[in-house]
Amino acid sequence: MPAKPEKENNSSIYRFSCPCCNEELVIAENPYCKVCKVSFGRCRNCGALIMEETLVVCHQCGKPLKK
Ligand SMILES: [Zn+2]
Ligand SMILES: [Zn+2]
Repeated sequence: MPAKPEKENNSSIYRFSCPCCNEELVIAENPYCKVCKVSFGRCRNCGALIMEETLVVCHQCGKPLKK
């Protein structure tokens, strides 16, 4: 089996950085960028950050997103 490079820290799965400015987001019910003043939704199933408000299905786990 070919060796795959390990990702540096798997524990960062619940830490998100802003797609716009790369600042670490404030983790709340909805992650929030205090620099851009935007908040992001999260998938209730897998916790993935939802960058696009128009998204109706989680890009990570494929579950439908509920408001
Ligand atoms: Zn930002
Ligand atoms: Zn998901």
